[in-house]
Amino acid sequence: MSGNGAEFLQPLDDDVYRIEIPIQHELRNFNLYLFLGEHPALIDAGPYHPLLEGMVVEALRAAGAKRLELIYITHSHIDHFGMAARLRSLTGAAVAAHRYERPRIERAGARLEEEYRCYSALSRHMGFPDEVAEAIFSLAGVWTNLSEPCPVDVPLRGGETVKAGDRELEVIHTPGHTAGHLCFYQRGEGLLFSGDHLMRSITPNPELYCPPWRGEMTGLPQFLASLELLRGYDIAVAHPGHGKPIHSAERRIEMNLMHHRRRLEKTLEAVERGCGTVWETALRLFPQVRDKPPQVDHFLALKEALAHLLILEREGRVFCDREGEVWSFRAS
Ligand SMILES: [Zn+2]
Ligand SMILES: [Zn+2]
Repeated sequence: MSGNGAEFLQPLDDDVYRIEIPIQHELRNFNLYLFLGEHPALIDAGPYHPLLEGMVVEALRAAGAKRLELIYITHSHIDHFGMAARLRSLTGAAVAAHRYERPRIERAGARLEEEYRCYSALSRHMGFPDEVAEAIFSLAGVWTNLSEPCPVDVPLRGGETVKAGDRELEVIHTPGHTAGHLCFYQRGEGLLFSGDHLMRSITPNPELYCPPWRGEMTGLPQFLASLELLRGYDIAVAHPGHGKPIHSAERRIEMNLMHHRRRLEKTLEAVERGCGTVWETALRLFPQVRDKPPQVDHFLALKEALAHLLILEREGRVFCDREGEVWSFRAS
């Protein structure tokens, strides 16, 4: 293979490629997975940007994929579905995703703006400074530019078996990072395409449901249950949405579960030492954001702190007073 586009292609096998799009961010890159054969397919579509579109189109051409039958979206974050509408019209592919992910994928920027307004209202209860909230949530427009609304032609629910190239993949619903996050599993070879649910060097952020969804404000309890669920699968290699393959998936799953158990204890310690609000707790857990100008890391820290506080509250280890505008936590 030679020519433009080949530099983005990493063969996993004769018929499966990783299309690796580099970015300057701790996530390191976006991974799309291309399956050649009778039912040419892609897992994930990357964010939309004209330059990235050029790279992906060149990579598809270099791999000899003239058409695509399906594009499977692991979840509704723009770095996974943003370019789906473009690739759908360029290749004729149908787009498949979990049905819970439809609002974000089909409405893209409009939905994101609604969610940012909701976060903005909610963050007052958390003692999140107004000026920080405003600086972060006014960035919705920047993200909106990296995605285009895309119809979901094939809604999935998990439990199905789907075709990709000449392979059959089991669809596993792994909620938590988002409500409808999906992993795709090829039994026999033990290949797991894990999206953002399981990555090699970072643990994903739990979803903040705004408004609350099925009685939950955050996806952390579901995320932990979805990690437990994966323990039941024989995984030889996991191929994540960002970064390199994971050859010891079982260990990575255990490490993630342990990471959250530790963070739960640190969160309790923060409350015992007098952190009364979600934001104070976030600053204790993530002191590195304290002196930085407002950016998305502040919001991620807030979500992590809230998610762990709510689990502690459910376990009866902390108490939350919601009488005033700002929620106040104390150890039970
Ligand atoms: Zn994500
Ligand atoms: Zn991602």
